[in-house]
This record gives sequence, structure tokens and C-alpha cells, in this order.
Amino acid sequence: MNRHERAEQLAKSAIALMAERHIAPTPENFKLFYAYFAGENPGVSAFIGDMIAGRRPFTPAVLVDLRQRFFTEHQFDREAAEIGAKVSITLDSVMGKLQSAGKDTEAYGRTLSAASGELGSDHSPAALRKLVDGLISATKTMETRASALEVELQHSSHEVEELRQKLEAVRQESLTDGLTGIPNRKAFDAELQKAAERAAQHGQPLCVLMCDIDRFKTFNDTWGHQTGDQVLRLVANCLSENVKGRDTAARYGGEEFGVILPETTLDVAVTLGNQIRAAVEGKKLVKKSTGDILGTITISVGVAMLAPGEKPVALLQRADACLYAAKEAGRNRVVSERELRAQAA
Ligand code: GH3
Ligand code: MG
Ligand code: MG
Repeated sequence: MNRHERAEQLAKSAIALMAERHIAPTPENFKLFYAYFAGENPGVSAFIGDMIAGRRPFTPAVLVDLRQRFFTEHQFDREAAEIGAKVSITLDSVMGKLQSAGKDTEAYGRTLSAASGELGSDHSPAALRKLVDGLISATKTMETRASALEVELQHSSHEVEELRQKLEAVRQESLTDGLTGIPNRKAFDAELQKAAERAAQHGQPLCVLMCDIDRFKTFNDTWGHQTGDQVLRLVANCLSENVKGRDTAARYGGEEFGVILPETTLDVAVTLGNQIRAAVEGKKLVKKSTGDILGTITISVGVAMLAPGEKPVALLQRADACLYAAKEAGRNRVVSERELRAQAA
């Protein structure tokens, strides 16, 4: 298949999927689903793949979230590339300055050796005086150039430092969820990968919690999306407040949150899951603008522990299966893989 045929195929698949799932045929949505079929962005592709596999609806909120995720990730890549280009220009200019300084030093060296050659021949005071004057003047020129170079290099080093800080800020932003301010799925996936490697290396337990807000669609339908967004922030706060330094709480998808718990056994993870669940349930929700009492929000939680030799993706699938069981069992509860196994047996 040539490039054109492949592009045509991708476009057809995107349009067919959008029609089937009743997704508005806007240019942004088209770009998103085209990218999905092209496998351009692993994070977004995995997310859409999950949605399709689970036959979950592409609601407007989900699409907003997906587009933000997709387009901002690309924006960060662009920003990082721009910063890289600026660093490279600055370094080119530093190299240029150093090269010209090198030439100046060479010329100065030649002046010195010429002077030392002349010293051998004529020792008259007038000739010596002329020679010394010449050397003083060449040395002064050298000094001036050297201090100019120092100023220029200091300036360049400032510029590079500023760019380094900007790059770090862009990197941080690309790992943070814009709505809640906690780590996003990209950060979660990277951290889980590292945590799984460390756990395997040190033979320590590693658990994950998958948390999902109960009946959140109804909440949004009743109180509106902006209030729903406030609830997402509140749940994110509950998670952050209840986890310790080495743990990672992240927004995994629309109204789903994941927690990575290194050096934690299943029992402790279940206790923590219940603590978070109770903390969310305990919050009294009041609409800021009107003072309306919004009732309470609950979450369901699935808990799984990394098995020897297991890949993080398999661990997440098990935590997801537990979460699903918690929903089935009536929501507002924590289900661990042990209970799931007991049910199956
Ligand atoms: P369940 O108890 O089975 O989880 O029911 P649910 O309604 O929470 O689940 P469902 O997956 O049907 O709906 C999830 C809803 O989450 C859909 C959407 O309205 C909401 N949602 C997802 N992302 C956002 C977001 O960024 N902001 C807001 N306000 N709502 C969101
Ligand atoms: Mg959900
Ligand atoms: Mg939900």
C-alpha cells in the first residue's frame, strides 16, 4: 500500500467509526480518530482503544478530554522542539565567539614570539621601548577582547539556563492534568513502569488502585459540567491528601483516577482504598454560586497487586476488572483481586 492509499484507508476508518459511534464530524474529531488509526499517539490510542473495546460512549465531555490530551501532547512536543532550536542557535553563537577568541589568542601568540625574536637582535633603549609599547598595546587589546568574551559567554549561559528552565516547565506541564493539577495518565504510565521495575528488582510488593466516580454522568446531567469539573478537583484533592510521598495519585481518564502504591501489600492497599472512598463520601458538596446542596459523591475502587514477572498493563487490567466488580456489587465500595478470585472459585 502506498502513502496515498494508506492515508485514504485511515481517513475511511476514521469516518466510519465516527458515524457508527455518533461522533460529531468536526475537523478536530476527524484529526483525533485519524491519529488513532494511524497510531500516532500511544497514550491517546490506548485510551480510545479501551473506550471502543468497552463500548463506552464518546460523550462530548470525553471528546473534549481526548482532544485536549491529544492536542496538548503535540503542543508540548512543538514547544520542546522550539526550545531545542533556540538552544542550538545560542550554542552556535557561543562556538563562533570561542573560535574568534581562539584566532585572537593565536595572533597574540604570534605578536609575543615575534617580540621575543626581536629581543635577540637590537638592545637600544629606543628599540626596546618601542617593543614594550607594542606588547603593552597588544596585551591591552587582548584584555579588552577577553573581558568582552566573558560578558558574552555569561549572557549566553544565562540564555541557556533560561531555556533549560522553560523546558523543565514544559515537561512538568506535559505530565500534569490541566483540570485538577495532579499527574496525568502519561505521568501515571511512566511512574508505574518505573515502580514495577523497582518492585521486581527489590522483591517488594506494588499495588494499584483504580478509582471511578459513581454515576457521574447523572451528576453532570443534573448539575452541569462545570460543577462536575469541581467535583473532579475535589476527588483529586481527596486522593492527594490521602497518599504519602512515594505514592502517585493521577487522573487516569475522564472521571477515573489511579493510585500507585510502591512497597504496599494488598491488605494495606485495600485499607487505603477504603480511606479514600470514605474521604470522598464524607465531603459535603455545595454549589459555590448558588449555595445549593448537591448531596454526596461516591467512588468505586479496584485493587490489584503486581504478580511476579507481570507487565504493568496486565496489572491495570486486573485492577480494572476489580473496579468493574465493585460497580456490579452496588458501587461505593472497594474490591480487591483476592475477593475477585474468591468469587470466581
Ligand atoms: P458508573 O457509576 O458506572 O461509573 O457511572 P458513570 O455515569 O460515572 O459512568 P459513565 O462512564 O457512563 O460516565 C462517565 C461520565 O463522566 C461521562 C461524563 O459526563 C463524565 N466526565 C468524564 N470526563 C469529564 C470531565 O472532564 N468533566 C466532567 N464534568 N465530566 C466528565
Ligand atoms: Mg468511568
Ligand atoms: Mg463513573
